[in-house]
Amino acid sequence: MVELAPQAPVHGEGQSQGNKALLAQPSLTQSYAGDTYNTAVYIARGGVSVSYVTLLGDDPYSEEVLTRLSGEGIDTGAIARLPGRCPGLYMIQNTPDGERYFTYWRGEAPARELFADPVRREALKAHLLQMDCLYLSGITLAIMGEEARVELLAFLAEYRAQGGRVAFDSNYRPRLWASADAAREAVGQFLQQADMALLTFEDEQALWGDKRPGSCVKRNTGFGVSELVIKRGAEPVLLQVDGELTAIDVPPVSSVVDTTGAGDSFNAGYLAARLQGASPEQSIAAGNRCAARVIGHRGAIIPRDDYLAVEKNENCTGGPQVVTMV
Ligand code: ADP
Repeated sequence: MVELAPQAPVHGEGQSQGNKALLAQPSLTQSYAGDTYNTAVYIARGGVSVSYVTLLGDDPYSEEVLTRLSGEGIDTGAIARLPGRCPGLYMIQNTPDGERYFTYWRGEAPARELFADPVRREALKAHLLQMDCLYLSGITLAIMGEEARVELLAFLAEYRAQGGRVAFDSNYRPRLWASADAAREAVGQFLQQADMALLTFEDEQALWGDKRPGSCVKRNTGFGVSELVIKRGAEPVLLQVDGELTAIDVPPVSSVVDTTGAGDSFNAGYLAARLQGASPEQSIAAGNRCAARVIGHRGAIIPRDDYLAVEKNENCTGGPQVVTMV
């Protein structure tokens, strides 16, 4: 999506005057982001080869998305283009404590057509079957058509039967779904096809009404998730692997500027490490490190040079591949 973010923090009056102060943004920075896009970018920066799958339009903004993905070394060969369409748009509003609010314009986004066209779908399946790991999010499911979602679910079973691994983040956004029941049904079905579930407890609470993390763990164990990660902001991350539950501390971050992309970048740090052979515990540390950097920056994507100047970029040579989907 096209991202519009405020250049300067919004001051305290935003809290007391409701939305009015938040709506009066003095100036905006325009960029590109989105949940799976953010994860794709940081996985690639972590040294794993990535192919990104979505649909774009034929407008200059779509062109720029492709340029940026290519600039990150991400394969864009499986991205379809729909004439006359342009990508979705969203605006971030930040409060002084770094929390954020989003407004979306995405009703016409071409990504909504993912897996819808039968001819494109077959070509896409062949592409996906070449990948070691496939990452997708609840937002992917929410914006797809229902028939396409059923097709994708059936494909995941085939993909896993052939040795592929599926990673999934429920990323529950109520406004994208017709009802909470519809979201629970779809998310539950996809979790049953997930080898790794990278969930945010707040989203899980909103979707399933969990009072405590224990109920989230129990439900996902029931779904058959063998590697479960539950993010809880600054609170310890919960990890359950093959039935064994541990809590892993999140190192404090001194300056939280904007939490946009926290969960996405955590997922990227986790998956990049995990796919390169790190243990789940080591991968959580990598996820925390990646998220800590992103929340110290305004917007979801830290400029590539700034990011890589700090991060030791171990380039992948023929290593594992991960596909991410919008
Ligand atoms: P989401 O962005 O999906 O809401 P969370 O808020 O749970 O996800 O944050 C994801 C990860 O980002 C956390 O597991 C942690 O690594 C990091 N993080 C988020 N907020 C903080 C914070 N206040 N201090 C330190 N780390 C944080």
